[in-house]
Amino acid sequence: MESARKRIKPILRILRRVYPRSRTALAFENPLQILVATILSAQCTDERVNSLTPALFKKYRTAADFASADRAELEAAIRPTGFFRNKAKSIIGASGKIVAEFGGRVPGTMAELLTLPGVARKTANIVLSSAFGRAEGIAVDVHVARLAGRLGLSREKVPEKIERDLLAVVPRRDWLDFNFMLVNHGRAVCRARKPLCSECPLRALCPSAGKIETPRPKTSAGLRSRT
Ligand code: SF4
Repeated sequence: MESARKRIKPILRILRRVYPRSRTALAFENPLQILVATILSAQCTDERVNSLTPALFKKYRTAADFASADRAELEAAIRPTGFFRNKAKSIIGASGKIVAEFGGRVPGTMAELLTLPGVARKTANIVLSSAFGRAEGIAVDVHVARLAGRLGLSREKVPEKIERDLLAVVPRRDWLDFNFMLVNHGRAVCRARKPLCSECPLRALCPSAGKIETPRPKTSAGLRSRT
């Protein structure tokens, strides 16, 4: 990790220059809305989540509204985001606990957020940073996991272990924006299938520059050979 410690400052400097206003792309107006939007964003694009949350947040305005939602109705409303049954269960469960134990207000600490059903560190980190401007960790989603590996900041595969490695090298003052900068970079340049290394402003600092192999498309001959 010594090399990661040396490279992290220039990496952060470049990321801040290229993505100066890195914030979540999820639309929200209060802590409850970002909590629900983040739950919905699992395995789904922010754009799709944003396309249905205005109507959702008009119908369900408070944690009590979500807690007492008709399960089938809520599932139908969030169905386009995928995994809608699990997501509805998490939203209703988390809202019920917010009503029962936190006076209807989304709690503002990692420890309290982690007691909510369906809320793990990634969701809690996004709620804390987006709604409370508080960084108690770094949210590790698919983009952060991929870029942490490619940039040589972590060799781990499990989000909790990747986060532990990142917290050890990224200065605390940068925790708040780190997820959003890597997400932006992962979408714009360091894409999963075809990273644009030749155009990447981080290439001089990245041990994976030009070394990521793009998976070959499956040909009919290739498919036949496995049958
Ligand atoms: Fe990703 Fe390539 Fe940039 Fe490294 S150089 S961060 S692998 S796009």
